[in-house]
Amino acid sequence: MVDLKEQYKELKDEISTNLLAALEATQFILGPNVQAFEKETAEYLGVKHAIGVASGTDALHLALLAAGIGPGDEVITTPFTFIATAEAIAYVGATPVFVDIDKDTFNIDLKLVEKAITDKTRAVIPVHLFGQPVDMNALKTLCDAKNLKIVEDCAQSFGAHINGKQTGSFGDAGAFSFFPSKNLGGFGDGGLITTNSDKMAEDIKVLRNHGSTKQYHHTVLGYNSRLDELQAVILRAKLKRIDDYNTNRRRVDQTYKAMMQGTDVQMPHEDGIGYHVYHQYTCMHPQRDKIMQALRDAGIACAIYYPIPLHKQEVFAESCKGLTLPVTDNVVKNCFSIPVYPELGEDKIKIITDTIKSAL
Ligand SMILES: *Cc1c(COP(=O)(O)O)cnc(C)c1O
Repeated sequence: MVDLKEQYKELKDEISTNLLAALEATQFILGPNVQAFEKETAEYLGVKHAIGVASGTDALHLALLAAGIGPGDEVITTPFTFIATAEAIAYVGATPVFVDIDKDTFNIDLKLVEKAITDKTRAVIPVHLFGQPVDMNALKTLCDAKNLKIVEDCAQSFGAHINGKQTGSFGDAGAFSFFPSKNLGGFGDGGLITTNSDKMAEDIKVLRNHGSTKQYHHTVLGYNSRLDELQAVILRAKLKRIDDYNTNRRRVDQTYKAMMQGTDVQMPHEDGIGYHVYHQYTCMHPQRDKIMQALRDAGIACAIYYPIPLHKQEVFAESCKGLTLPVTDNVVKNCFSIPVYPELGEDKIKIITDTIKSAL
C-alpha cells in the first residue's frame, strides 16, 4: 500500500548523518532530539505542548488518563477505525460507546453523537479518518455545551487542518501515531500527545516516565512510554518535508479522480470543511471483491480498512450486544483501499485505474 523505499532514498544522507551523531552522543532516553522534536511539532501544530510517547495507542491511553477519564465513564467514538481508539478507552476502565458514521466521509456522524450522550458520558474521541478532519468546530460547540472532554485521534491526520488550524489543536488533547506507514512515519513505533493545558502536559510527562517527577520518587502509577531518541532523529527529518508529502498525497487524489471519471466507483469524498491529507485512499463499489481480485491478479496492493467494525469485534461483543449501525455495516461491505503515498507516480496510477476499469 505504501512504498517506503522511495522516500528513504531521498532522506538517507540526512538521516544517516544525524543518526550517527545521536549514536555518538549516547543520550538515548528523552535526549536532545526528542526535546527538539517536541518543540518543532508543538510549533508546527500550533499547540502549547507536544509530548513524545512510545506509540499512538499510548498517546490515546495517556491522554484519556490525563483528561481524568476512568471507570464508570462512557466515551463516544466511531466503530469505523483501528482497534486502538477503543482499546485506549477500555484501558482506563471506561466504556466505548459506538455511534454510526457519515456515509460519504466515513467520519463519526455528529448528529448521532448528540443523541448518544447520557449522564455517564465524559468524553468524545473523534477520529480524523483516512486524513480528513472531523468538523471540529461543530463538535467543540456540542462538547462545550455538554461539558465533555475531547481527545482527537490524529493517528492518520498529521498536517490536516481546518482553515489553517491543525487537527490535534482543537480538543483537550490530540493523539498522534508515528507507525511507519502513517503520513509522518518513523522507522518503528512512536507517538505524540498535543495539548494546550499546562496541567495535562505536566501529568502526561509524569505518566510516560513511571509516574516520577524526580528520579526514584513515584507519585502516581505511571508507564514506560517515551518516544525513542533515534525515532526522533528520523521524524525531525520527515517533519521538514511533511507539507510536501501531504501536497503530493493530494496530487495522487486528483490524478485518481481524473482517471476514474465516468466510472461508477465512489471515490473519496471531501466535505469541504477541512484539508484532507489522504492517509488512506478508500473507495466504494458493490463489486468490491471483484475489483480487489483483479488488482491482486495484477500484482497491485489493495486492502479493506476496516473489514470488521469495532462494534462487531469479539473483544467488545458483550458491551455491543444488539447494537446495529447500518451505515458502518454498508461501508464495510463495499469499501476498498488502493495505494496512496507521496511518491506514487502517474504511470502507476494509470495501471491501477486501468485495472479497476477493466475489472468492471
Ligand atoms: C495507527 C492508529 C492508531 C494507533 O497507533 P500506533 O502508533 O500503531 O499505536 C490509533 N488510531 C488510529 C485511527 C490509527 O490509525
